Amino acid sequence: MDYQAILDEIYEEAKAFKGQGELATYIPELARVDPLKFGIHLTTAAGDEFCVGDSEERFSIQSISKVMSLAQVLPILGDALWERVGVEPSGNPFNSIVQLEYENGIPRNPFLNAGALVMADILISRFDDPRQVFLDFVRKLAGNPSIEYDLDVAASEGATGYVNASLINMMKSYGNIINEVDKVLEFYYHQCAIAMSCKDLSHAFMIFANEGCVFNADERILSKSKVKRINALMQTCGFYDEAGEFSFRVGLPGKSGVGGGIVAVHPMGFSVAVWSPKLNKKGNSVLGMKTLELLTTKTGTSIF
Ligand code: GLU
Repeated sequence: MDYQAILDEIYEEAKAFKGQGELATYIPELARVDPLKFGIHLTTAAGDEFCVGDSEERFSIQSISKVMSLAQVLPILGDALWERVGVEPSGNPFNSIVQLEYENGIPRNPFLNAGALVMADILISRFDDPRQVFLDFVRKLAGNPSIEYDLDVAASEGATGYVNASLINMMKSYGNIINEVDKVLEFYYHQCAIAMSCKDLSHAFMIFANEGCVFNADERILSKSKVKRINALMQTCGFYDEAGEFSFRVGLPGKSGVGGGIVAVHPMGFSVAVWSPKLNKKGNSVLGMKTLELLTTKTGTSIF
């Protein structure tokens, strides 16, 4: 398969949609990004790499970080995690409060903000310096020790994160948060504010394409069974209330973030990351969705 020629073609075709979508503005710092940035990086299980556009420029990974925190938390708690977080798609926006109240403070899945806040709480209970431990984990997955938190983005979200504060306080009232809410929020905002490029993300997510083995390292840090579960959650819950649409149009497990990134994996095939900051109404990158739809259509690599 000539992935480079296919990526070049997709890049041109997808650009026709660059007028569509809006930047995320509810985190003020994200509104400062150049809306026309667009990059793609694809890594195959055989170790070949292909890229186009702004694929080495770092951006705010936001909710994509939730998959990596799940990969860190699941081996720590095992199935006990599912007593505190569910595994069902929510059909609601990522920061919805309503469902959380109906369901007694147990988030529907780990990729909702509420679910990620529970995982942040677990990491804080487990590690003295969770920020450093999480950053080291992400650096290891990506094979890049220079990855950092974007402190301006973390502070910007901290100053405006009223809905996340509501979610965590509600869960605390139901006994599903152990630590101080401010401490958990502070860690969560940093986790979301990690800056990575498409290349970094594509490398990091090879762990989910490669049965738990870290990219370019002879090390398995997740069992096949845990990878299977995480990929299943990406498939059913990875795109807010548009997970069905992503399955329908693209047909790969994946995760998006409001920074405009999307990563998708083809188990035993490849890991691909796209970045274009303008989002559709559901919070997913317009060009990112289009790119991945074209990719699986042209290469016949939907898993369905
Ligand atoms: N930090 C963002 C929030 O909590 C993440 C949202 C996202 O990327 O979906 O609102």
